[in-house]
Amino acid sequence: MTIYKDKFSISKPVRLGIVGGGQLGKMMAFEAKRMFMKVTILDPNKDCPASNLADKLIIGDFSDEQKIYDLSREVDIITYEIELANATALNNLEESGFLVHPSPKTLSIIQNKYRQKKFLRENRITVPDFELVSSEEQLMQYCSKSGFPVLLKACEDSYDGRGNYLIRSENEISKALTHFSGRQCMVEKFVYFKKEISIMIARNLSGTISYFPIAENIHEDHILKTSIIPARISKETERKAINLAIMTMKSLKGSGIFGIEMFVDEEDNVLINEIAPRPHNSGHYSIEACSISQFEQHIRAILDYPLLQPILLSNAVMINILGPNNYTGPYEITGIDELFAIPGVKIHIYGKLETKPNRKLGHITIVSNSVDPILTKGNVEDLLKVQESSS
Ligand code: AMP
Repeated sequence: MTIYKDKFSISKPVRLGIVGGGQLGKMMAFEAKRMFMKVTILDPNKDCPASNLADKLIIGDFSDEQKIYDLSREVDIITYEIELANATALNNLEESGFLVHPSPKTLSIIQNKYRQKKFLRENRITVPDFELVSSEEQLMQYCSKSGFPVLLKACEDSYDGRGNYLIRSENEISKALTHFSGRQCMVEKFVYFKKEISIMIARNLSGTISYFPIAENIHEDHILKTSIIPARISKETERKAINLAIMTMKSLKGSGIFGIEMFVDEEDNVLINEIAPRPHNSGHYSIEACSISQFEQHIRAILDYPLLQPILLSNAVMINILGPNNYTGPYEITGIDELFAIPGVKIHIYGKLETKPNRKLGHITIVSNSVDPILTKGNVEDLLKVQESSS
């Protein structure tokens, strides 16, 4: 079932519901508003980044079943910008014929890291070796078989590396397990990667698949700091990554945009690290550097519009503005005026009222075919500072 086909009526615009009003919800709402849709957002925070763009904000938790049903009464179609959306409520809606995309069935596979990796492995998609952890003895056995280091990962509610614990030797095993005590965990072989890359790939309801140019991602403290586009990889690695992404989309069956994060190891094997069933930080560059943004592509995909292959209009470097790792509270960002003096700079400030350690507060995209990504990163980091608010 699709909506909004063949005609556009000003008096009856598409009513889009988004679970989550963070920066991804904000940028999605921005594109939806450009195309004259009505946007209703569900978020626990009345001052969330998307709050001043939404036509209506429903205050409530992403996991609150009742609030998801409230959202469905306001809109024609629901999507989400966050994996924490209540998959059971969304699934009930889908089963009753309501439009929810990507499918909540896909969401519930992805929500749990073990289920996600198991699904990929069963579909012959290359992932690092892993096992579910059932006891300390079994984890010991895994480590003695695979060697150190390994990563212990909390299967749910973990993002931006916050649910990962690096185990370097046998005497760190029980400390790692205590760290996640009570949570379901999996163990994963450590990948000595040359590069981390990602692809934004979309599929519409009719099954057309389209992908964006590959981004090369640099993480600091397990958080994405910089993306360089196009990724500095060989044609052969690019081909392998695109094949894996297409295989993943074909097996997942969901529609919408997906961010697929991958490792390129020392032998140039490409392995999937993680899938996000939504727009992704590493795809923000598409707003300025491509013929279509990841957010418009997502909206097109879930409304079953044509999905064209995005054209890269310019090389780009995207740099996240992150909160300092030793401060929580009101903040200010300095250096913006100097930044505006750099040609090709676009600045995005999300409007979060408080910073927290490593919180994503905004990002900068520099579009230019002549920038040196590493030099640019250094310049931006020297100029831009997030600090405690003086007022
Ligand atoms: P995740 O939250 O699992 O996506 O992990 C966050 C970051 O941790 C990744 O972007 C990598 O830098 C690192 N990481 C995750 N899994 C592995 C792995 N198996 N081997 C090496 N590094 C990893």
